[in-house]
Amino acid sequence: MLLAAYAAGATHVMLYVHGEAELSAERLTRAVIDAESAGILGNRMLGRHVECRVELRRGSGGFVLGEETALLESIEGRRAQPRTRPPFPVESGLWGKPTVINNVETLAAVPSIFELGAERFAALGTPKAPGTKVFGLSGPIRRPGVVEMRNGVTLRQLLVEVGGGLMDDQTFKGALVGGPSGSVVPAALFDVPMEPRERVSPGTGGIVGIPAAASVVDVVKTLLGFNARESCGKCTPCREGAPRLLAMIDELRVAADRSATTKLLRDLADTIQLASLCGLGQAAPLALVRALADFPDEFEAPRSP
Ligand code: SF4
Repeated sequence: MLLAAYAAGATHVMLYVHGEAELSAERLTRAVIDAESAGILGNRMLGRHVECRVELRRGSGGFVLGEETALLESIEGRRAQPRTRPPFPVESGLWGKPTVINNVETLAAVPSIFELGAERFAALGTPKAPGTKVFGLSGPIRRPGVVEMRNGVTLRQLLVEVGGGLMDDQTFKGALVGGPSGSVVPAALFDVPMEPRERVSPGTGGIVGIPAAASVVDVVKTLLGFNARESCGKCTPCREGAPRLLAMIDELRVAADRSATTKLLRDLADTIQLASLCGLGQAAPLALVRALADFPDEFEAPRSP
């Protein structure tokens, strides 16, 4: 973070930590105090005429705070709702000042890029996805946790070689890739290298292994329910559309005219994706749209209550 601040000429840095991440906040508070007493931070960094202050801010735990302008609103003391753009934060961000916002994964790569050089770091990944990426592995796998891998890694390498496969020798139906804004990738695509904007995109890097016995419909409903709850309410397509989409999944499974209901559902998904202000709303229908294409049978038969 200090290297990035130095490169940008910034003298004021804020660490914004999730309101529920107590351990992270504790450790970062200590790191800032240690850096100040070691002379790495403050008015004269390392005894030179370079100044940088670091301030720790706590969020209040909302998913929408991952959207950078909602985060700025929160720091300024307002309700966490995304701003319309332009202006972009690099032109007019926190309190109207030019603001560079990076997530911790990006900043954590900076020391490695300095150590290895940009070319060697980039060569760790693929031409479309240079460098490394951090993945969070979860679900009923043998070795869940957070790992840093070369970009272009496959789901099989992550979930089987690193994660140890599913517990109780279950087989995979697929994996939820990309967290709450992601989608379920079928096991048939487990050997495709993951690259942004390709068939299997790593998204945020959150990976949940899904066993063959699990219901993709349940996964999709859980994600839509989460996105509906976390909607900040600023724009109608996201606020009203996500709960409606959730209700329509059940309607689809008992519909007399399935093709008409499916068309309605796709139209609503398109509207939400096109007309929502921020990434939360734009990505909310993704899991459903992908699951309808990749797991159509799961939406067929009505299940017993
Ligand atoms: S898309 Fe959803 S979360 Fe984003 S601004 Fe609109 S209502 Fe808020």
